[in-house]
Amino acid sequence: MTTQFTILARAGAARCGVLQTAHGEIRTPAFMPVGTAATVKAMMPESVKQTGADIILGNTYHLMLRPTAERIARLGGLHQFMNWDKPILTDSGGFQVMSLSKLRKMSERGVVFQSHLDGTTYELTPERSIEIQHLLGSDITMAFDECTPYPATHEQAKESMELSMRWALRSKEAFVVCHSRESGNPVNLQFNNATGSLLSQGRQLLFGIVQGGIYPDLREESAAALKAIGFDGYAIGGLAVGEGQEVMFRVLDSTMPHMPEDKPRYLMGVGKPDDIIGAVLRGVDMFDCVIPTRSGRNARAYTDTGEHNIKNAKFADDAAPLMAGCPCPCCKSYSRAYLHHLFKADEMLGPMLLTWHNLTFYQTLMQGLRAAISDGVLTEFAARFLARYREKDDA
Ligand SMILES: [Zn+2]
Repeated sequence: MTTQFTILARAGAARCGVLQTAHGEIRTPAFMPVGTAATVKAMMPESVKQTGADIILGNTYHLMLRPTAERIARLGGLHQFMNWDKPILTDSGGFQVMSLSKLRKMSERGVVFQSHLDGTTYELTPERSIEIQHLLGSDITMAFDECTPYPATHEQAKESMELSMRWALRSKEAFVVCHSRESGNPVNLQFNNATGSLLSQGRQLLFGIVQGGIYPDLREESAAALKAIGFDGYAIGGLAVGEGQEVMFRVLDSTMPHMPEDKPRYLMGVGKPDDIIGAVLRGVDMFDCVIPTRSGRNARAYTDTGEHNIKNAKFADDAAPLMAGCPCPCCKSYSRAYLHHLFKADEMLGPMLLTWHNLTFYQTLMQGLRAAISDGVLTEFAARFLARYREKDDA
């Protein structure tokens, strides 16, 4: 088997590398914009590419309800359906079943729930989650797990983690079955929409998810259990659920030494720029979060001087660009005063421009982190960025 993940440089615990997938390379540390319902909200796919994103995330829960995984598969898979030819990671659906659906019933087999859209009853099991992600054609499939609620006692976290580990094994078995069933079947080869050429025959990857709440012994046990099953990458789940940055970093400090060194590490659902920097310093390679897109739709800008609410009256007459030196179209062609006006007038261009900026800011940060790791100046880069970022916070 060829190596999918290559580490190019290290700085302390931090790594800079490249992950190969069926739809191209992902430069790490990487930030994945969230494309919940087969779209990164307020953005055209080509604009998402221009921000520097190598990969986006799609949500199994949302897509299985509407328009359904089977329909997307009939229409050529998620890449073709949403006109995105770069890598896609799909989550397992577990987290959103817990946070969005109604009348959930958990069992060893999986979870039965009612759709938050129309109340229809569905079942999600490890096998079904892997099948859905396979139908979507995702490049990185996530094992089905239970996101341990926070706070949880040691006993609750242990029980939940152990269930997730049994589900991780079933996920791996289902993944292997999916792939052995179709090996050599030309129907599943990926073609470039525009040219009709064969893009790649690279296989899909499967990531396991370390759980265990805030308890170091459970995290260690979980990492060991996943390692024994064997995955292409390892995620850290159950964080960024209200525990706060200090606790999150403490959990990372105790968990990272148990994560396989030669595989990508993905911190799920994180985070704000300073969370990302702290996690990269601790050896995390991949991130996803709704913050840059959701904030962009809610008038919150992320810049090198921190978070700003563009609706703040002080921006009404401000002719300066949102962030000097930012390469995004929002900063190149528009003023803070204009952005302020768009949000005050409830114009849809406001969320579009601010989402574009926020995603560009995040990708520029990731590029800066990658370069700093390669150049051996990560500590200085992080200190300089954080000093400026925390200088002033008027959000
Ligand atoms: Zn910008």
